[in-house]
Amino acid sequence: MANLQADTPVEFIPGIGPKRAEWLRSELGVYDAGDLLEHLPFRYEDRTDFIEVKDITSDAIAVQMKGVITDVKQIPSKRGSRLVATFKDDSGTLDLVWFKGAKWMAAQIPALQKVVVYGKPAKYQNRWNLPHPEIELEDSFERRNGRGLQPVYRTTEKLTNRGLASSGLAKVIRVLLSSPELVLPESLPSFLLDELKMPNKAEAMCMAHAPQNHEEAESARNRLKFEELLLLQLKLLIQKREQTHDMPGVRFGLVGTLFNDFYSNYLGFELTGAQKRVMREIRSDLNTGWHMNRLLQGDVGSGKTMVALLTALLAIDNGYQACVMAPTEILANQHLESFREALGALPIRIELLTGSVKKAARRPILEGLKSGEVHLLIGTHALIEPGVEFHRLGLAVIDEQHRFGVAQRSKLWAKASPAPHVLVMTATPIPRTLAMTAYGDLDVSVIDEMPPGRKSIKTVHRTDSARLSVFQFIEDEIARGRQIYIVYPLIEESSSMDYKDLMDGYESVSRRFPLPEFRIGIVHGRMKSEDKDIEMERFSNGTSQILVATTVIEVGVNVPNASVMVIESSERFGLAQLHQLRGRVGRGDEQSYCLLMTGNEFSKEARRRLETMCRTNDGFELAEVDMELRGPGDLMGTQQSGVPDLKMADLLQDREILTTARYIGNRILEEDGDLSLPEHAILKAALIRARKGRTNWSRIS
Ligand code: ADP
Ligand code: MG
Repeated sequence: MANLQADTPVEFIPGIGPKRAEWLRSELGVYDAGDLLEHLPFRYEDRTDFIEVKDITSDAIAVQMKGVITDVKQIPSKRGSRLVATFKDDSGTLDLVWFKGAKWMAAQIPALQKVVVYGKPAKYQNRWNLPHPEIELEDSFERRNGRGLQPVYRTTEKLTNRGLASSGLAKVIRVLLSSPELVLPESLPSFLLDELKMPNKAEAMCMAHAPQNHEEAESARNRLKFEELLLLQLKLLIQKREQTHDMPGVRFGLVGTLFNDFYSNYLGFELTGAQKRVMREIRSDLNTGWHMNRLLQGDVGSGKTMVALLTALLAIDNGYQACVMAPTEILANQHLESFREALGALPIRIELLTGSVKKAARRPILEGLKSGEVHLLIGTHALIEPGVEFHRLGLAVIDEQHRFGVAQRSKLWAKASPAPHVLVMTATPIPRTLAMTAYGDLDVSVIDEMPPGRKSIKTVHRTDSARLSVFQFIEDEIARGRQIYIVYPLIEESSSMDYKDLMDGYESVSRRFPLPEFRIGIVHGRMKSEDKDIEMERFSNGTSQILVATTVIEVGVNVPNASVMVIESSERFGLAQLHQLRGRVGRGDEQSYCLLMTGNEFSKEARRRLETMCRTNDGFELAEVDMELRGPGDLMGTQQSGVPDLKMADLLQDREILTTARYIGNRILEEDGDLSLPEHAILKAALIRARKGRTNWSRIS
């Protein structure tokens, strides 16, 4: 082998071979030398000091000792034999013990030679022993500079059984890094290394795998993570430029009569500062002649829908159609109603298209869309189906993006040429760092201010033993004219247990709040959509005071008179969901409440979620905690999460590095959009290499 390059398959790395290469691929996703080097240690063991047998104390986490193994024996027992070796130094002896792999180990033990042993001491029958220690000949230990910080690698049982435990991986990586054949191309231009005071790539790799001290490890790792994040950001930012700067969009230059008429005669309130800022951002996007691809983040009730409506008016004023796509029928209906109400007598034709709009009713809508007589279409995913043709679609608003996959978004693009401007709205705030990666190709607007006069919702946690007082509280609120939601978890649509809980709950609530004084509604996913609508309508117009429901009401439902949200078995909900549910109340002028019910026992994580809910109403703060608890991938949902697989960096821990990478990436592209300047050649080459590799960036939308 002439050279060892980053893309040299692992089987050609000395000491690996085809069999182990197979295992490295399947167990760790390590395919080539570059992957192996990017498999950074997850911690370092301090192997600087030696102690003697007599000095072992019970607070020792791990001990390192020099001595000789004098005796090795198999001791048979009922549960398979164990291997015991006697280790001796100048101060005394202790047993090295193996319960697993005893046979294999017996052949490996270097008896009567000077060794270094390392492990966590345990006490058995009042004597110290070392179970499953690491053993190395003292010679080899000295030769490889075994003192100091030693890398510890993530590995698996299968790899461990094939000689690739952490120490085995360390050895392979050590040999690779010291190989004169290794060629590691630099990925960062020298002006960046100077500016950020970072080591070069080869130095950083050596320092990350074999650091002199913790500072060195830290600085090397930061440099490698920065490289990974910078390349990712460059790729996303370039993609974003391609979708905006390189993709023509309709220009909505005109602020026309509809917009102005609505603004001065129908709006009925002053936009918040945040809404005004976002409208400016959107209007400037729409006036560039390029395609808009913008994510609008804002907490429940922050007034995103109003922003969507104003943007739709801009489109219509400019002679284009707009559509709003909602994740559920309930929500689509609600949008329809609130848009109709808001638009009052303005000459705008709005239609609704969902799966349950029947053929006969569908035809005139489809015709109106094609002829352009329908200005605004509201619907579910039904509106991206084939057969739905627009005259001139200029704007697509996607509400609650989480439920729409990337594939669906791209179907929208195909509905018009040039592609319609896209405004994605989400009420589940995403931590900033995550937005920078999962939605790195979108521009992000944030509504971080609530309409004035909102009272913050009081949230408390109650266990089932407090149910009587909770019911009393509900009764008092109803007496004051308020309405109540009681939500049951329905984690899986098919789970009969969950339905039983819901029905039992409904019955006990019905018993406590009997007719004719009280009316109770119920909504869940197994009901026909007409029945759901009837129940929702009864609640919404105040006929029923209590609505027992599953999370079908999670998204978007708006009944301002509802002031109490009771969430049953709340320990089973995730933070984002709890926050969404809580957002159903606090929409009117009254003080609202959220009661988180649980049994007496729940996990530590559930406790943290409940405490966080009780402490804050701020969706962005909740999102940060959620990401800490669940990790970035899960936060976005496992499917099409849009969270890239990062090998070295971690979105949770490396927020600062990510922010720097984003900033630098933007700066570079502003100066040199296609990386054609000579000083950026290194970056361009690195991007091309990354694209060719298996770096999983394909899932990024
Ligand atoms: P979101 O879609 O972000 O959950 P909505 O747009 O549905 O929020 O707004 C929630 C409620 O607040 C609606 O009743 C809406 O009419 C009202 N609203 C929106 N913006 C304002 C504002 N600037 N001032 C007062 N009320 C507002
Ligand atoms: Mg909404």
